[in-house]
Amino acid sequence: MKIEDKLFLDRFKVDEEESHIKITDGQICMKACPEQPCLYFCPANVYRLEQDHISVNYEGCLECGSCRIACPNLNIEWRFPKGGYGISHKFG
Ligand code: SF4
Ligand code: SF4
Repeated sequence: MKIEDKLFLDRFKVDEEESHIKITDGQICMKACPEQPCLYFCPANVYRLEQDHISVNYEGCLECGSCRIACPNLNIEWRFPKGGYGISHKFG
């Protein structure tokens, strides 16, 4: 089974009002993080490089928790989505 097929089994209930992920200081991303590893380590491509900032497309977050520890500047505030929101996995 391909990864795309596996991801298709996931269902998301998106909290439209509030992101569960925030970049603390966007200036650090653009001025003090030349490698910008969040563009690569996130399996869901949540972090994307825009013209002058990193955008956070939290709707597709798989809640793997990697970004809490993988940002070299500890510049990402991550918590689980509020109760009832977020991803649910369907297996089989
Ligand atoms: Fe910003 Fe952290 Fe991403 Fe670097 S890894 S660009 S500091 S969020
Ligand atoms: Fe990406 Fe995982 Fe962080 Fe969600 S928790 S934004 S899937 S690295």
